Amino acid sequence: MDLFEYQGKQYFAGYGIPVSPGGVAVTVEEALEEAGKAGYPVVLKAQVKVGGRGKAGGVKLAATPAEVSEHAGAILGMDIKGHKVERLWVEHASDISKEWYASFTLDRSAQQHLLMLSTKGGVDIEEVARTDPEAIVRRHVDPARGFSPEDAAAALSDAGIDEAARQQAADLLASLYKCFVEGDCDLAEINPLILTPDGTVHALDAKITLDDNAAFRHPEWADFAATETTDRREKEAKERGLNYVGLSGNVGIIANGAGLAMSTLDVVAQAGGTAANFLDIGGGASADMMASALDLINSDQNVSSILVNIFGGITRCDEIAKGILDAIVRVDLHSPIVLRLDGTNAETGRALLAPHLSGRLIAETTMLEAAARAVALASGGRSSAPEGAGAAAGVNRDGDSADGESVDTANVNAGGLR
Ligand code: GDP
Ligand code: MN
Repeated sequence: MDLFEYQGKQYFAGYGIPVSPGGVAVTVEEALEEAGKAGYPVVLKAQVKVGGRGKAGGVKLAATPAEVSEHAGAILGMDIKGHKVERLWVEHASDISKEWYASFTLDRSAQQHLLMLSTKGGVDIEEVARTDPEAIVRRHVDPARGFSPEDAAAALSDAGIDEAARQQAADLLASLYKCFVEGDCDLAEINPLILTPDGTVHALDAKITLDDNAAFRHPEWADFAATETTDRREKEAKERGLNYVGLSGNVGIIANGAGLAMSTLDVVAQAGGTAANFLDIGGGASADMMASALDLINSDQNVSSILVNIFGGITRCDEIAKGILDAIVRVDLHSPIVLRLDGTNAETGRALLAPHLSGRLIAETTMLEAAARAVALASGGRSSAPEGAGAAAGVNRDGDSADGESVDTANVNAGGLR
């Protein structure tokens, strides 16, 4: 889970990392109120979970209430890289003498934590990484040993941080590391980390990604989750207890077990298609779960065919078949389903489904055949589809066929599953 800047700063403050005082505003009036509390001059900052807000005009200094009104009005509602600004963070503005960069993240391939530190902080750190990678000091930290004062001193010296500020910066890095580890972050980034003209070091921005796997030991994260603007599909999946990740392709995928679901993504790619999602209905999935999964995938506008890949171990294929039949009755399915059912009770499951097989509900024996069929249907592969499935296969959710001729969706549905 990514945090908004203001949440990140709140998190930082909990670990003693110095940040500016401020408050959140959702209206111009609230911005004026928060500016009064923070003390002029203030800086108004768009709260969106995307970088480069400064460049996009989402960060503005305001010396007077009139300027607060003007900038708050302009920033609220602004679109920054597809993210609508609904909140502002208003903080007391800092004087900046230098802008640095500091972050801790996980280097999975090295199996270590990684500190990155640079004196070339500010809005253009990505540019620095591209054009002047030497300017960014990288220092691995052995998680078993931790981040020592010696590590900090070496990194600060390598990066060329002002000597007078090194002790402060070292303390701050130690706090940042503590926040990263104890706070269960995947990323804890400060850009810019500033040096003020009077010689203090503090965090002017905060970018934190929390490790969702650690949520069980952080009840306080519930507040962050409440403001999360996740993919609508992922939010729904969570409510249904489904293990779902939204992707951008058009073949909807349902499998039992994360490993099989991953393999299913691979065979779809192998067959020349792209998956619309990852969905693992888990071991021992019930008919209810299956119906719920189909319902969710069916509501995804991008899905043109659904591939159900089940290898029954604990999961019983007859249960899966019941779930599919249940969904067919309950839900107005927009896409054809291709099914590969194998393992525990597969024969009973197949027998249950047999009377219902059609151009809209297709059974294949192997995973690869099923994937190829689903991909062909998703891309409007009419020649390979059986009678009756052709029109359905060519239909995307706008009601247009793949080759541009208009198809009556009602007719397609009528000729569909029921
Ligand atoms: P980002 O562009 O999304 O990373 O947003 P930041 O919070 O990093 O702000 C972008 C830039 O705005 C910073 O690099 C600063 O140069 C400037 N800025 C932000 N806050 C202040 C402030 O309190 N005072 C001054 N003078 N500049 C600021
Ligand atoms: Mn920044």
